[in-house]
Amino acid sequence: MRPESTGTGGERAWVLPDEPVPVRLMNTIWADRAGVHDDLRTPDDLAAWVASIGATDGPVGARRDDVARARRLRDALRRVAAMCTDDVRAAAASAIEDIDAAIAEINSLVVAGPPAAQLTLRKGRLVTQTPVVGPAMTRALSAIAIDAIELFTATDSPQLRACQAPGCVLYFLKDHPRRAWCSTACGNRARAARHYRRHRLDSRADPGPPPGARPAPEARISGE
Ligand SMILES: [Zn+2]
Repeated sequence: MRPESTGTGGERAWVLPDEPVPVRLMNTIWADRAGVHDDLRTPDDLAAWVASIGATDGPVGARRDDVARARRLRDALRRVAAMCTDDVRAAAASAIEDIDAAIAEINSLVVAGPPAAQLTLRKGRLVTQTPVVGPAMTRALSAIAIDAIELFTATDSPQLRACQAPGCVLYFLKDHPRRAWCSTACGNRARAARHYRRHRLDSRADPGPPPGARPAPEARISGE
């Protein structure tokens, strides 16, 4: 299932559009019953996605190598997110296995981005101004990499989570103490799966797991 997508008319729908941009980039990989899908496959995909996050002043064209760079950044973010969230979901595993390679990938985009803000005098007032240099797509990806670094290192903001509903490969920020799933759709599926399992166990008069047995992965999710 593609949870809580938006989009009307001819607009494309994207997964979990209320998440911060780096998480939205991670979630361009999503899954349903048919398997895992990638929303960033073509230059048109990337141009539409960058437009959807409002990263640029207007429409920005994308080339094949931009798609490759965006996907590498996405895979790097997913690798670091997996480490942050103790994510062991096999279907969600990043194409970048090595954590150092993932970190280097994120940093390389920061370096490729615009230089730091500079001091400017405007109408007698001191203001900061970030020089506009380089292609718009590079600036957009660089800004996402910078945001992601903040997101991964912030200690006083909602925590990144991997959604543990059956089959889900998405990440989300736990912005509410009771939020346990990426979406209500995933919450409902997880509850249904739990109910089905319990019902099946009851009907077999199963005595249940022996004392000290490891709980099923979902049973460890709190907040339900
Ligand atoms: Zn989910």
